Amino acid sequence: MNRPSDKVCIVTFGCQMNKLDSDLLRGELARAGFSCAERPEEADVVLYNTCSVRDHAEHRVLSHLGAYRRRAESEPDFVLGVIGCMAQRMADQLLARFPFVDVVCGTRAFLRVPAYIRRAQQGGGPIVDVGEESPGGRFEFDRAARMRQEDHSAYVSVMRGCDNFCAYCIVPFVRGRESSRPPQEVVREVRRLADDGVREVTLLGQNVNSYGGGLEPPVGLADLLERVNGVDGIERVRFVTSHPRDMTDGILRAMAGLEKVCEHLHVPAQSGSDVVLGRMRRDYTAAQYRDMVARARELVPGLMLAGDFIVGFPGETERDFRLTLRLLREVRYQQSFIFKYSPRPGTAAARWEDDVPDRIKRERNQALLVAQEEVDTERRAGMVGRRVEVLVDGLSKADERHLSGRTRGNDIVVFDPPQGARPENLTGRLVTVELTDSTPLTLFGRLSGRG
Ligand code: SF4
Repeated sequence: MNRPSDKVCIVTFGCQMNKLDSDLLRGELARAGFSCAERPEEADVVLYNTCSVRDHAEHRVLSHLGAYRRRAESEPDFVLGVIGCMAQRMADQLLARFPFVDVVCGTRAFLRVPAYIRRAQQGGGPIVDVGEESPGGRFEFDRAARMRQEDHSAYVSVMRGCDNFCAYCIVPFVRGRESSRPPQEVVREVRRLADDGVREVTLLGQNVNSYGGGLEPPVGLADLLERVNGVDGIERVRFVTSHPRDMTDGILRAMAGLEKVCEHLHVPAQSGSDVVLGRMRRDYTAAQYRDMVARARELVPGLMLAGDFIVGFPGETERDFRLTLRLLREVRYQQSFIFKYSPRPGTAAARWEDDVPDRIKRERNQALLVAQEEVDTERRAGMVGRRVEVLVDGLSKADERHLSGRTRGNDIVVFDPPQGARPENLTGRLVTVELTDSTPLTLFGRLSGRG
């Protein structure tokens, strides 16, 4: 039986990499005798797994931490921890502002978190570890023990860090340099996941196209996709995030030729202006990005693209912004993630004047959102009448009488369960759905076949 102080809640901010880290850490904590709580109020140990990519994400964590002052002071056994990117970037500042935080543990020391919690439970000063990789490396987490959020779909980390040093980005500073996981280890994990009922895996890397750097014998993302495609029981394979410069024909041909690899790419452009791209140190021009998109669409029929854009980068003029808007309209993304620039201390761009007023950033942000919605509404309407393969995620969150799932192109589809059937029985199955209607965010359809 757990002691009262063995219930841990992890609150996760940020990207899929952080969500995966939280899942992995839950597995480690379970092995160390802790149990999980869904909500912080139910837990005696609360860990914030944090994100430093944007100012806004950091502010949200800071405001959450402030709310624990009274609890930390009145409950001596309560343990509060900050882990991940913010811990790595600003450990001293965190402790100066929130002296009641017990554990501050950076991105490279997750394996040591359970031991730190035990130490913190025994009292003493705050424990800070923003040092090197845990012994054995962070890929040594016991994958079988991890607590996944979904049964049929899983993220698999294939590499960490980034060597690109884009001028605005904090990732190389908090996550370190690129390091790839050997392919046989990735495949072993995917096999275990398949045995555990997983049908879809998403291979994760901050810069996944450059997978394999430093590995011997040499191996690339295309080889890895082929190996993962060969794992029995897995029905779909995805990978994120791609750098436009590193999108080789070999990767695109592998996508086209391997039946389980979905026709979907997340390949951030960030800007449509060569001047801004140059200052961002993205290492491609808008024309090269357009060429990459054309090549990808030619080699991978039916390809869907998701993109990222930053508005209000230092020095971005109205003309620069118009070029971005034009690129977004031309490429016709399935989805765009649009962000207002905020300086990240320590990056190259943080030394430049943040000279685009917030009002202009908000206007540009809004203009891109509107353009994306127009593009997407038209695209979805054009899909009505088609039959598509859907992996069923479960009951629709908006209305539990319906089922919801995703196409290979990552569109959400809502449809009715078969008459008389228990809808949950279809979760994790591939079905064919005929699309009958569309809204800006969702496609609707009727079941026309089961996988
Ligand atoms: S490639 Fe991505 S993760 Fe790497 S520095 Fe650039 S924006 Fe950051």
